[in-house]
Amino acid sequence: MLNFALKTIEMSQIERISCLIIGSGPAGYTAAIYAARADMKPIMYQGLQPGGQLTTTNEVENFPGYPQGVTGPEMMLELEAQAKRFETDVRSGFITKVDFTGPIHKCWTEDGHEIHTDTVIISTGASAKYLGLDSEQHYLRLGGGVSACAVCDGFFYRNQEVVIVGAGDSACEEAHYLSKLCTKVTMLVRRDEFRASKIMVERVKKTTNIEILYNSETIEVLGDGQLVTGVRVVNRSSNLQTEIPCTGFFVAIGHQPNTEIFKEFIDLDQTGYIKYAQPGTSKTNVEGVFVAGDAADKTYRQAITAAGTGCMAALDAERYLASLEH
Ligand code: NDP
Repeated sequence: MLNFALKTIEMSQIERISCLIIGSGPAGYTAAIYAARADMKPIMYQGLQPGGQLTTTNEVENFPGYPQGVTGPEMMLELEAQAKRFETDVRSGFITKVDFTGPIHKCWTEDGHEIHTDTVIISTGASAKYLGLDSEQHYLRLGGGVSACAVCDGFFYRNQEVVIVGAGDSACEEAHYLSKLCTKVTMLVRRDEFRASKIMVERVKKTTNIEILYNSETIEVLGDGQLVTGVRVVNRSSNLQTEIPCTGFFVAIGHQPNTEIFKEFIDLDQTGYIKYAQPGTSKTNVEGVFVAGDAADKTYRQAITAAGTGCMAALDAERYLASLEH
C-alpha cells in the first residue's frame, strides 16, 4: 500500500529536464552521445522497439568502423553502452503524448509520467511495412532470407536469385540495386502497373536480369524451416499458382514513419515524414524540437545517415539551449 502511495506521488511529480530523446536507433543514440558529452544530461526513452529497425537486421557490413561487420543488435548494444558511458539516462518505456504549444515542451510516458523539457530530439524512426504472412515473419525473425532493405542485405545474396515485392520508387531502386549483385531478380507487382515514376520503371524494364511479373501476389514464402528457398505466387487474373525459386525475399512496399503522436504540432509531409523547417539543419517547425533519422528521411534510410542527423540534432539542441541563456 505504502509502495503504491509512493509510486503515485512520484508519478504525479513533473520531471524538469533540458533534453529528451525519443527513440533509440542509431539516430537517438548518436544524439545521446553528443548531448551527454555537452552536459545536457539527456534522458532517452527507448520506445517500443529498443534499438530500432537495425535489431531486425542480421549483419551490418556498411557502417564505417566495423571492418569485420557487426550484427544489428550487437551494434545497438554498443551504441547504448557508449551513450551510457557519458551518463545518458536510458529508460525503457515510450512517450505516448506530447504538447508542443508552449516554450516548455511537455511529454508523457505510457505510465503517465510527465516530463517538461527545453529541447526534444525526435528519433522515432520508421517501420518497414511487411506483407504480414506467417511464413514471411518466420524467416524474417530467423534472419533466414527475408529483408526490407536491399542496400543492407543485398550483398549476402550476390550471385543468387532473389524476389522483390513492390512497385513504387523504393522497389524499383532496390530491384535495380539487387540486379547488380544477383544473377536474377524477380519483381512481383500486384497490379498491372507500377506506382513508381516513369524513369524508375524504365530503368527496371531495361535491366535484362530483372523479370517483372504483373498481377502477382505472394501467398507464401517457402523454405526449409531455416532458410528461404522460394516463393509461392498467385496470378490475380488467371488464379494460376507458381513457385519461384530464390534465396532472398525482399519486401519494398513502403515504410511508415513513427510520427503519429507529433502530428498535431509538427509539420509532416503527406506520407507522415517530419518536414525540416530549415534544410541543412535538424530543426522542425517548433522551436526547440529537432528531428533525426528515418522519421524525417524517406530517401537514404541508412544507419550511418541516421547517426549523422542524430549528431546534427544534438548540436542544434545545444545551440538552442545556449541561446535561451542569453
Ligand atoms: P510507395 O507507397 O510509393 O509504394 C509502395 C508500393 O508497394 C506500391 O506499388 C504498392 O502497390 C505496393 N504494395 C503495398 N502493399 C502491398 C502488398 N501488400 N502487396 C504487394 N504490393 C504492395 O512506397 P515507396 O517506399 O516505394 O516510396 C515512398 C515515397 O518515397 C514515395 O513518395 C517515393 O516516390 C519516394 N521515394 C523516392 C525515391 C527516389 O526518388 N529516389 C526512392 C524511394 C522512394 P500499389 O501500387 O498497387 O498500391
